[in-house]
Amino acid sequence: MKRILVTGGAGFIGSHLCKRLLDEGNEVISLDNYFTGQKRNIVSLMDNPYFEVVRHDVTSPYFVEVDQIYNLACPASPIHYQYNPIKTVKTSVMGAINMLGLAKRVRAKILQASTSEVYGDPQVHPQTEGYWGHVNPIGLRSCYDEGKRVSETLFMNYHHQNNVKIKIIRIFNTYGPNMHPHDGRVVSNFIMQALRGQDITIYGDGLQTRSFQYVDDLVEGMLKMMATGDDFIGPVNTGNPDEFTILELAEKVIDMTGSKSKIIYQPLPSDDPMQRKPDISLAKEKLNWEPKIPLEQGLVKTIDYFEKLIREDKDI
Ligand code: NAD
Ligand code: UDP
Repeated sequence: MKRILVTGGAGFIGSHLCKRLLDEGNEVISLDNYFTGQKRNIVSLMDNPYFEVVRHDVTSPYFVEVDQIYNLACPASPIHYQYNPIKTVKTSVMGAINMLGLAKRVRAKILQASTSEVYGDPQVHPQTEGYWGHVNPIGLRSCYDEGKRVSETLFMNYHHQNNVKIKIIRIFNTYGPNMHPHDGRVVSNFIMQALRGQDITIYGDGLQTRSFQYVDDLVEGMLKMMATGDDFIGPVNTGNPDEFTILELAEKVIDMTGSKSKIIYQPLPSDDPMQRKPDISLAKEKLNWEPKIPLEQGLVKTIDYFEKLIREDKDI
């Protein structure tokens, strides 16, 4: 049994990760300030005596004896990370410093949830880990993109300067149950709109692409990355290489929900990446991992989740 700290443990991905780590027989501490996370996501875990819940902000130091740290605390939806951009930078940068300091002190292994956004609006397709990216340092998305890039820098520096055992994964668009219904990200938006018969809002012409990974596949990749030997630190892409246009996603969601919703077109937000698809050769080689759940299969589970949520609380 290991004692494991998950920052952002009440969030979408964090809640799935906590459950999986508990299921594998570990002791888990979820640390969260509930900015975008929800108690609802972890309430079913609270009966487990090996699960602890801490309300804390990663921008302040936190001390606990643990063997491993998964650092996920950071809003991930563009609407939420742009709501208070200064705080987003602080969460990424000060959060990384505080968690790396803790890892150094207690000699814990620490994994950083980085992002495909470090590639910005990429000019290389698909994106390999060797690509340095195309990021606007002063644009609307920069608080998130540059914050995450500095986090990667800090992880590498703590590793080389202080021998901290680090792992960096670059997560591509992930979806599934426990996403916040008003999260603003495309999968949750389209499903909520379709289920309520509201217009489906496509930003731009809908020809921009994304590659959607189901959350269970990601969590499997995270555990495999944490289990690699000390000589492999990443960064490594974790995503599903099946690429879709946003228009294709909208049509799929309408079809699968049997919705009468119409598609409407709204302006494209600035710096919105035109294309995104991971090259996962490195993950296949080093982690013996690749995603197994195709988009339609993952969408069925996600639609079921949101249908249940709406049934339980019509005002949601
Ligand atoms: P989320 O918003 O659902 O979860 C983030 C969690 O962090 C929330 O519970 C939130 O309350 C918490 N948090 C935010 N700021 C905090 C702070 N200062 N102190 C303590 N807790 C704080 O998002 P998610 O999709 O679960 O993303 C989790 C991580 O994975 C993030 O770091 C995100 O950047 C990364 N990521 C996610 C995706 C994706 O597609 N979901 C893609 C790339 C990277
Ligand atoms: N998007 C959209 N309608 C929405 C929400 C998002 O067309 O209601 C688009 C958005 O402009 C982007 C893509 O879908 O091109 C993915 O957006 P999301 O916010 O999910 O993630 P990210 O842009 O960070 O990949």
